[in-house]
Amino acid sequence: MNDCLFCKIIAGEIPSAKVYENEDVFAFRDINPQAPTHVLVVPREHIASVGAIDAANSRLAAKCIEAAAVIARQEGLTGGFRLVSNCGDDAGQTVKHLHFHILGGKRLDDNMA
Ligand code: AMP
Ligand code: ZN
Repeated sequence: MNDCLFCKIIAGEIPSAKVYENEDVFAFRDINPQAPTHVLVVPREHIASVGAIDAANSRLAAKCIEAAAVIARQEGLTGGFRLVSNCGDDAGQTVKHLHFHILGGKRLDDNMA
């Protein structure tokens, strides 16, 4: 049984606004955008969070970051962007499938806390 929301989005069982995909990575628009561009980049394989990255799966995390660079160009984020991954409850991670938020399209707040 896999009750993971992002696994279901990747499988097409739950609709999403796809912006990019390749063999290892899927990316779609955040349903509750915090910036003019707010895209989530996830590995197709279920990894719980950054805290679960290890030598066996780190290639997929690198693939997500590589995809983020492509998506940022595709989205025209020439002024820059922020790449964020919340890990665990203290960071406010609500979906326990590794994801990187791409945030851009405006001058972002300095406050990281
Ligand atoms: P986090 O709080 O870092 O775990 O991020 C989870 C993100 O997933 C939040 O920004 C939500 O707005 C987003 N989200 C939740 N459900 C969906 C969905 N069905 N489609 C797109 N984004 C979603
Ligand atoms: Zn998952």
